[in-house]
Amino acid sequence: MLKRILFGIASAILVQGLNIPLYSTDLSSKPKAKYVFYFIGDGMGLAQVSAAEAFLATNNPQIQLKSLHMSNFPVIGLSTTYAANRLITCSAAAGTALASGFKTSINTIGMDASRTASLQSVAAMAKAKGMKVGIITTVCINHATPAVFYAHRPDRNDYYTIALQLPESGFDLFGYGGIKDAKGENGDRPDAYDIAVTKGYKIIRGQKDFLSLQELPGKIIVLNDRLDEGKAVPFIIDQTPQDMPLSQFVEKSIQLLDNPEGFFMMVEGGLIDWACHSNDAATAIKEVIDLDKAIGAALDFMKLHPNETLIVVTADHETGGMAMGNALMKYESNFNLLSSQKVSESVLKKHINDFRETKCKDGCQFEEIFPLLNKYTDLGLNIPLTGFDSIQLKMAFETSMLRKIPFSEKDGIYLLYGDEEPLSVTAVKMISQKAGIGWTTWSHSGIPVPVRAKGVNQEKFGGYFDNTKIPELILEAMGISSEIFMRDGK
Ligand SMILES: [Zn+2]
Repeated sequence: MLKRILFGIASAILVQGLNIPLYSTDLSSKPKAKYVFYFIGDGMGLAQVSAAEAFLATNNPQIQLKSLHMSNFPVIGLSTTYAANRLITCSAAAGTALASGFKTSINTIGMDASRTASLQSVAAMAKAKGMKVGIITTVCINHATPAVFYAHRPDRNDYYTIALQLPESGFDLFGYGGIKDAKGENGDRPDAYDIAVTKGYKIIRGQKDFLSLQELPGKIIVLNDRLDEGKAVPFIIDQTPQDMPLSQFVEKSIQLLDNPEGFFMMVEGGLIDWACHSNDAATAIKEVIDLDKAIGAALDFMKLHPNETLIVVTADHETGGMAMGNALMKYESNFNLLSSQKVSESVLKKHINDFRETKCKDGCQFEEIFPLLNKYTDLGLNIPLTGFDSIQLKMAFETSMLRKIPFSEKDGIYLLYGDEEPLSVTAVKMISQKAGIGWTTWSHSGIPVPVRAKGVNQEKFGGYFDNTKIPELILEAMGISSEIFMRDGK
């Protein structure tokens, strides 16, 4: 209620174009978090974490879970995630709540629900305090979750304008996906990278140049060597030695951002969400494990500064309605099977598309796809197929290769394959199912997500609260007295 009142006052002030703090608290006597890590696993609900822990324990003879770093945090809470205008949120609305402490509407980046006023993010406030700021993600750096920390736009899909707002932040390090639509949606606008350079940013391309840095050479935008069409880093399951795992990127970023004034670092495991949208458990689990290794790097840093560090790990929402257990497997699980999947659904889709273009140009038989499925998924080899499995795969094959749609109803097709490639998604979902994982949706779900905290003010993060409370607690830990303020949005 307090926040609603303050919000109303802020709106009134905003009309006059003023930029003033809403409320102040004297926090000078409290311990200050000089080093803040804000880890956001996009789509990382409790099931994604538990599944990763079950997967890591598959070699143990006893049934058990192998704890991730995040599970050993001393404090855990639960946060609600709903948006101002929808129960099941999106990354833009949830991210805005996590960055700025206000509920907003679906697809809105760093603005209030009516999309008229801009909201200040915790990262901007850390920067104003003199801390260095790093915004790190495995997806493109103008995607919703990173964007809510520096941009203000009514529509998350306005990638180009968001990219132009990136250098205005003055933040010290961005990485390590690229800029999506850097020349605008139609490729006819001035290059956003060039604009960032004119604003004082240096573009660091690739692992070698990044890892060889001994100190921050001013403000930097770092890119992984290989990026997909959407400018995301490859999934960890698809990475080659040329690529940087998130854990490696974070470890180096800590070294570069470390300075006497402290730093604020937001690290997004953005690809967890993407894998879960494809109901691809093997890929999602490996992304969770990589994010957890990055958390391990933060914990190592914390050992050097135990009284001045805060690490918060949470999610913007859950994706996929993932569950441990499904109707087919009843009470059984076989997480070992997840190791049989060699590539993400995204890469499998590319191989299947290639097959369609080359070997199936003039028609093809179901049996011809098996060498490809065997190679990348073990389906039909180490993972034996039942008659029902074969029927499902054949139906997906015919939909994909021969455009023989099994039902006329669009809803039926969507329920089976979502917006994905029918055969690749059927294959990875089949492996998930045989491993004992269930999925209820191709979208997000509305359940609360865990919030884990270790360090300064950790005790405040226990309990059941709304996601808008998290940035307030982080600000309080940092000892920033002007907690939430709004500024004129353009
Ligand atoms: Zn999503």
